[in-house]
Amino acid sequence: MEDAAAKMCEVGRRAYARQLVDGTGGNFSCRLDDSRVLCTPTLLCKGLLTPGDLCVVTLDGQRLSGLREPSSEVLMHLEIYAASPATRAVIHCHPPFATTFAALGETIPASVLPEGEVFLGPVPLIPYQRPGTREMGHALRPYVNDHVAAILQNHGTVTWGPDLETAYVLTETLEAVCRVVYQARQVGELKLIPAMEQAALAETRTRLRAT
Ligand SMILES: [Zn+2]
Repeated sequence: MEDAAAKMCEVGRRAYARQLVDGTGGNFSCRLDDSRVLCTPTLLCKGLLTPGDLCVVTLDGQRLSGLREPSSEVLMHLEIYAASPATRAVIHCHPPFATTFAALGETIPASVLPEGEVFLGPVPLIPYQRPGTREMGHALRPYVNDHVAAILQNHGTVTWGPDLETAYVLTETLEAVCRVVYQARQVGELKLIPAMEQAALAETRTRLRAT
């Protein structure tokens, strides 16, 4: 519990320093065991989190401990855990370049950078849902076992994985890909990775996920 809380605060500082969240935006969670989830509180800057600010909730959203109110968006996280037993951490941010695609309602192109192909794979665009509702999680459910990241239309990003570090790094990778796509379009025409190489990268992704 102490280790998970310290890691969540560290992730908050990194996400804020890299401008993946702003204001009090974004929320993170991780499973503590089969019945409890540690999550960030509502209305607090992620760059300023301390372990005492965090909350523990049950898988159906009841607060077990914590002085602050859990983020309302933890409902989205809980839906992801319910659909994917292998998922142990969820990171939701509002990174500027990925959120630009979210605001355009546009799926990011595949096969732009090797890191994106190997670590992210296809990133679905989830139609707009009101933040803080279970509907957001319901909309994500079909994707959580075969994907690791999604863009939430007119909202932001969500990434998930076996631990907080993995889930967080996926958000950094997603934002890096979106930034390069955005920048490339400002100065020229986007070139994609050759088809044969795409297949090799997809194989690497499948192999890595199996391990
Ligand atoms: Zn949000």
